[in-house]
Amino acid sequence: MMNCTDIINRLGGTQSAEREELVYLIENITDDEAEILRKLAQKKALENFSKKIYIRGLIEISSYCKNDCLYCGIRRSNKNAVRYRLTKNEILSCCEKGYALGFRTFVLQGGEDGYFTDDLMCDIVGSIKSAYPDCAVTLSLGERSRESFQRLFDAGADRYLLRHETATAEHYSRLHPLEMKLESRMECLKNLKEIGFQTGAGFMVGSPFQTAENLADDLLFLKSFNPHMCGIGPFIPHRDTPFADRESGSVRLTLVLLSIIRLMLPRVLLPATTALGTVDGKGREKGILHGANVVMPNLSPTEHRADYSLYDNKICTGDEAAECIKCLSGRMKSIGYEIVTDRGDYKSC
Ligand code: SAH
Repeated sequence: MMNCTDIINRLGGTQSAEREELVYLIENITDDEAEILRKLAQKKALENFSKKIYIRGLIEISSYCKNDCLYCGIRRSNKNAVRYRLTKNEILSCCEKGYALGFRTFVLQGGEDGYFTDDLMCDIVGSIKSAYPDCAVTLSLGERSRESFQRLFDAGADRYLLRHETATAEHYSRLHPLEMKLESRMECLKNLKEIGFQTGAGFMVGSPFQTAENLADDLLFLKSFNPHMCGIGPFIPHRDTPFADRESGSVRLTLVLLSIIRLMLPRVLLPATTALGTVDGKGREKGILHGANVVMPNLSPTEHRADYSLYDNKICTGDEAAECIKCLSGRMKSIGYEIVTDRGDYKSC
């Protein structure tokens, strides 16, 4: 007979859980058991990070995308999407603002936009690193060739976020057009790690067609890949996508998964995501209390924020960077945590 408390205790100790145990836990965990899991995960995060929350300044550099991911609001076939791209100077001025506000990590994220060639990206990364040598640059620009990743790394980029989205090929194929393959995504992740990037994987919770088995396989993939960072948040429908009528992923399940990930990967950098804050007004605070240790306030120019619309009702689209950080500091304080000005690199031991 399987028992959730036993499985949770195994996750919290040195033993790992089997696939069928993870499926069982995901499907059967009660509120009381989820609270036991939460406490263990929070304790594990406190052991590793105390009450310090790292911040990453998110700069959304382009809403152009050549891909057509079925869930994403900036997919190429969304004719209603407003497209923009930031210039190098605009990106640098976001960094300048961010630096003054205490950010020491800048995350440049965007759709897969051919305009941002290796030459241009290397120039941008190099300029940020020479202006702010004490800062980390994280890129989140989708799939690129190994040579391209290597050039970006050599130009000074420190980290790369590329969610695997789902570790099950069949599920991947239902979320993406035919030309996109899980194999390519996984190949990119492997290349990024080999090159030396602090590498981030991750997935959406409650994406269409997702099963408990898929989630268990996501967790097992994370365990074996051992990423430095892991981004998970609820799927949220976007009105102009084929998944417009789907339901959002559940907050409860997202929190349970955050806690499981914290126990499986004690030192992983784990954000309480904007998507979690979008589906629940207190989502990011709850995420921290369930084992997350990172928040990613938006540093993009206010005039473009609403146009980087991956999903409906995204929060913080009207605010200035300074307001975002003030709001988040207050939120973290309200639960007894504090935002710190620290690069917040992965600590290997
Ligand atoms: N082009 C980059 C960045 C994608 S946006 C890349 O391919 O990696 C970052 C993440 O947002 C995606 O990896 C996806 O997991 C998430 N996302 C996209 N659409 C979403 C939606 N509708 N709901 C929730 N998360 C979404």
